[in-house]
Amino acid sequence: MVFGKNVVIYDLDDTLYNKTEEFADVLDTVMAEALVYDLGLKMDVAKAKELVTESYRIYRDGGEIFYRDYNINPRDLFIAYHRRKPVEKIIPYDNLLDKIKNIPAEQYVFTASDRYASEKILKHLGLFEFFKDRYYSVEDFGVYKKNENSKVYREFCYKIGVNPTDCVFVDDSYSNLEFAKEAGMTTVRIFYHNNSAKDKTYIDYAYKGIESFLDAVLSGKAF
Ligand SMILES: [Mg+2]
Repeated sequence: MVFGKNVVIYDLDDTLYNKTEEFADVLDTVMAEALVYDLGLKMDVAKAKELVTESYRIYRDGGEIFYRDYNINPRDLFIAYHRRKPVEKIIPYDNLLDKIKNIPAEQYVFTASDRYASEKILKHLGLFEFFKDRYYSVEDFGVYKKNENSKVYREFCYKIGVNPTDCVFVDDSYSNLEFAKEAGMTTVRIFYHNNSAKDKTYIDYAYKGIESFLDAVLSGKAF
């Protein structure tokens, strides 16, 4: 059990690996390139990148400004961006698989990456075999985000045959946790610099990096 629950569901990006500031910057460029080169946005890449960064800051979604003001289709950007995602630049944690294998719960991944990118990322992290039949993308539920409402969390639980109240959801993005909580899950936020979301009542527990969460569970501090 983990916090009294028998299912743990992990976000993937920036939860099962740490997205450094350098990598986040690379991803903003990649999204700008997808917009300009793949989707025909009439803008230079540098300007598009500035808007991606601004869009993340305002909406916590790099594409939102483009959906609103530039007639970009969310699905088209979702696919083009994930095709270009430079997965090989991710630095995996050491021994993550060994720790995860020993967690006393059923474990799943639920990601806002598409299936193409999430398979590549899980392979790169050495976690693919473990999560092979237990990872899902938002695209499996016909959506592109998991911070819009709690429906997708309830559908996820239905798909894996568990009740939301039996689940712990682990994510770096607190906008996702709000809806996991609304669905009835116990929530764990992974932070890196400081715990910037202490005031959010829908966050039950917070840990600095996934390893400290896993270590807490493995040492019996999070039963
Ligand atoms: Mg994330």
